[in-house]
Amino acid sequence: MSTNKQAFDFETLAVHAGVEPDPLTGAVMTPIYQTSTFAQSDVGVHKGYDYARSGNPTRTALQNALATLEGGRYGLSFSSGMAAIDTLLRLVQPGEHVLVGNDVYGGTYRLFTKVLAGYGIDFDFIEMSDLAVVENAFRPKTRLVWLETPTNPLLKLFDIAAIADMAHANGAQFAVDNTFASPALQQPLQLGADFVVHSTTKYIGGHSDVVGGALITNDETAHDRLKFLQNAIGAVPGPQDCFLTLRGIKTLALRMAQHCRNGLQVAQFLADHPAVERVIYPGLESHPQFDLARRQMAGPGGMVSFTVHGGETQARIIANKTELFTLAESLGGVESLIELPAPMTHASVADSPLAVPGNLIRISCGIESGDDLVKDLAHALSAAG
Ligand SMILES: *Cc1c(COP(=O)(O)O)cnc(C)c1O
Repeated sequence: MSTNKQAFDFETLAVHAGVEPDPLTGAVMTPIYQTSTFAQSDVGVHKGYDYARSGNPTRTALQNALATLEGGRYGLSFSSGMAAIDTLLRLVQPGEHVLVGNDVYGGTYRLFTKVLAGYGIDFDFIEMSDLAVVENAFRPKTRLVWLETPTNPLLKLFDIAAIADMAHANGAQFAVDNTFASPALQQPLQLGADFVVHSTTKYIGGHSDVVGGALITNDETAHDRLKFLQNAIGAVPGPQDCFLTLRGIKTLALRMAQHCRNGLQVAQFLADHPAVERVIYPGLESHPQFDLARRQMAGPGGMVSFTVHGGETQARIIANKTELFTLAESLGGVESLIELPAPMTHASVADSPLAVPGNLIRISCGIESGDDLVKDLAHALSAAG
């Protein structure tokens, strides 16, 4: 399995990527190397590992798995998605400019505007579904284009291949936060992106039991710098976290298939419900970018957003009434979650151009029975009625 893993289908890669029988014992699953340091046989002579911030075999397995799943050459793991994003942004120098999609994760917006802007990096948040707007937004100092697709929580799609071409024509590099789709549904490097970013906390880990992040690239020069930064800044994941994430990856293909089935069933149910004002789901023909979703993604995913009649008051009642859907932030786990972005995940963008309506509900469909999920929502919606 060690050579030519790209020749395998995604389901196979998810099980095998990065993981080799342990050279010492033959253990089939990569051991948790719970150590901070590694013995040297002479000064500077070791088996590739000297100190665990710089490298750890469990982390190496995870990094290789992540690179393979995205069809990339190099992967790096971090202690959180935000740590990965922060490390990538260190490629941008003071005085340079970053173009950002106008619907990004609240924490990303906070990092860009409340932390990195203070170090002299310029950010513009623009409507990236309009390619003319993108083309006109470049400046001579634009170093990086950053987007999420589908976005959180409005599930807007951006055309990765078209924006990659524009970024490169304007001398910029291009990063895609692929957290919502996961590599099972969308592989941005294959569409021209230079960097893929993940909060592995979500679909990649998949079990709501570990926080982590990742950066994947094919650009050797950038990777060398990012690897240096990973060690220099030090926001690395521990071996136990790497193990849990590797374990989650084994079932990524299976889980995403069920997330997509449940997402579609739930979205279709909501679209017909009188208490619902509007459903946003890339797998519904009513989605403004339904065609792009078909072209760019292997499936519409497990995230569904919808607005309800009766404002935030009704939205709060519904989110409190579900039983299977747990009221909680985060997404992408095996269990279904429900939340109100405005007062919860997107509280940090209130009063900004990224603010979202109070009657918006976001659900993360887990891998339970789709019929049970629909029954639970039907009950909550009628109770709110
Ligand atoms: C959760 C999330 C992040 C941040 O990741 P953490 O692991 O929570 O630090 C970044 N981008 C998106 C799209 C996310 O959903």
